[in-house]
Amino acid sequence: METRTMDPIIAMNGVSKWFGDFQVLKNLDFSVDPGERVILCGPSGSGKSTLIRLINRLEEHQEGTIAVNGIELDDDPHKIEQVRADVGMVFQHFNLFPHLTVLENCSIPLRLVQKKSAREAEELAMKYLSRVRIPDQAGKYPGQLSGGQKQRVAIARSLSMCPRIMLFDEPTSALDPEMVKEVLDTMVELARDGMTMVCVTHEMGFAKEVGDRIVFMDCGQIIESAPPAEFFGAPRTDRAREFLGQVL
Ligand code: ADP
Ligand code: MG
Repeated sequence: METRTMDPIIAMNGVSKWFGDFQVLKNLDFSVDPGERVILCGPSGSGKSTLIRLINRLEEHQEGTIAVNGIELDDDPHKIEQVRADVGMVFQHFNLFPHLTVLENCSIPLRLVQKKSAREAEELAMKYLSRVRIPDQAGKYPGQLSGGQKQRVAIARSLSMCPRIMLFDEPTSALDPEMVKEVLDTMVELARDGMTMVCVTHEMGFAKEVGDRIVFMDCGQIIESAPPAEFFGAPRTDRAREFLGQVL
């Protein structure tokens, strides 16, 4: 028997979402405990990105409830702002500002959102650039960096806002193979430090190493949710077996 000692930090209950007539998420229940690392996987188009985008309200759901850190998301901009302060997100395509240096990319959000002084913002940004092991790139522009370095800047920028939850949406899918490891290593370190993480990824080695739980989605539904040893060792559904046959 699983014993729960704490309230989930992300709690989705009966969540459905449509894009026009198309139902992309179907009555989903999904929750994440503080400090838990959840790996979200499944075929392309199954709704993984939509699910994680609901968590910081980059998309809106139409049915059910979503609470993050006890705040239930609705149209109230104040609540959305509170939730976004707790949730960092890293995308497949870095989303860095090309006309700003690495240091500016990381420090400007701290000044604009958290109203830090220029000096304090730069110090914090440097701290996190060091943490992802690229302090020496601070003065460069994104165009001068490798893909792996850009993604680590994106991670540093998110971390410098001190989120309680980090969402990753296929952070290594756009990278050349030789750069995947440096980004995954950064994520492994983050996991070791106890960060609550929801990662959409097809990197099954990483999933086994870091995941507390693997959530497998197909056609807008959660089909399986199990610890890695169980999911990889004995998937319960044909759909999961077929998926694993393609990615492993
Ligand atoms: P995944 O991340 O698992 O590949 P997505 O969440 O991106 O899946 O998409 C799930 C489905 O929703 C896909 O069929 C996709 O085409 C559709 N979809 C995603 N975003 C939109 C949108 N903004 N408008 C209409 N359809 C969308
Ligand atoms: Mg996606």
